[in-house]
Amino acid sequence: MAKKKRQVRADFRKNRSNPARDRIRADAVDPQLDEAASRQSVRGKGELTRRRTLAGAEVVDDPSGAMVLPAIDPTVCRLGRVLRVQALVSLVQLEDGTQRRCATRRLLKTLATDQRHVVAAGDVAWVRPEGVHEGIIERIEPRRGVLSRTSRGKQHVLVANVDLVLAIVSAAEPRLRPHLIDRYIVTAERNGIEAVICINKIDLCNPAELQPLVGVYSQLGYRVVLASATQGWNLDDVRSALHGRHTAVAGQSGVGKSSLLNSVQPGLDRRVQTVSAENEKGRHTTTTAELIPLADGGFVVDTPGIRQFQLWDVIPAEVAGYFRDFRPYVSQCRYPNCTHLHEEPCAVKDAVADGYIDVRRYESYLQMLDDNPAR
Ligand code: GDP
Ligand code: ZN
Repeated sequence: MAKKKRQVRADFRKNRSNPARDRIRADAVDPQLDEAASRQSVRGKGELTRRRTLAGAEVVDDPSGAMVLPAIDPTVCRLGRVLRVQALVSLVQLEDGTQRRCATRRLLKTLATDQRHVVAAGDVAWVRPEGVHEGIIERIEPRRGVLSRTSRGKQHVLVANVDLVLAIVSAAEPRLRPHLIDRYIVTAERNGIEAVICINKIDLCNPAELQPLVGVYSQLGYRVVLASATQGWNLDDVRSALHGRHTAVAGQSGVGKSSLLNSVQPGLDRRVQTVSAENEKGRHTTTTAELIPLADGGFVVDTPGIRQFQLWDVIPAEVAGYFRDFRPYVSQCRYPNCTHLHEEPCAVKDAVADGYIDVRRYESYLQMLDDNPAR
């Protein structure tokens, strides 16, 4: 047991070796692809830590493990975005909007031994075009904003280069569960991804009653959108939150994810549902997630694996660090590894007692530890 715990800790540290903030952006919207292209020639020393050379290729460590960066010929290869990976074939959308079915260069597969998926949905890829509709992925740019799950000691990247988590809950039907908001934002924080909170179905409640809750998150710096998909309330705010972003949608079934996505772009809900159904069936296949391009820029991804947002690799001692409201107090606890549960004295518990930390947030923290015993 103790041994296992250490193992998890070690993995966690490894994953966090490059704080998200310091990582170079592997993309993001479409100017992002240009950015990745320009980096190829101007990449300076020290932008990424831990780089080495292996078989003529550069190897860097990014949040999803080691990545191989073979030299590519930019006059032949084109930059694109991996929309989905199915078995050995990746669907890549190039900058001009065309899509190609691509195989992966053998060198990438051979060298990237500690990754289950050499290529993941969301990756920025250099493709050598072949024929009219095909190509070979020659290189994947370093990732950031990775949502992953660890299984049998290997990290399974669900989607790479996500820059926004849209955490959707409903005011009623199903009843509002603020704890879920906390889980989603902890996962986002852990991966260095921004989170926007959307409380849908506000037509079913008195919005004034939501104000205390909204206040807690707003004070922490999270944007909160109160919406009603069926009444059409504040949908522009949802639309503008997604615009140009790579968004992972989180939210339990029935909260109105499909309705909201459909209001952003008609037909989007159906695409997402089809993809989710495929993923549900293919839990043990190599299918991860699919990026659905938004008509006016950006992508949305919604998969059951991401929706459930288990705190896969987060260990209890680190959870408190992802509660923004705890941060000012954590360092004042007497014990450096204080769990803020039973220890006395504890600066976090004192802050709760004094009303500086919302009691419900603290309870949510306790629940998270309960659901995620030290594994
Ligand atoms: P999903 O499972 O999260 O994708 O949720 P759906 O979009 O399928 O919505 C579930 C149910 O909630 C459907 O019957 C929708 O019509 C309903 N619904 C969605 N948004 C709203 C809303 O803002 N207000 C109300 N009253 N019902 C909504
Ligand atoms: Zn403490």
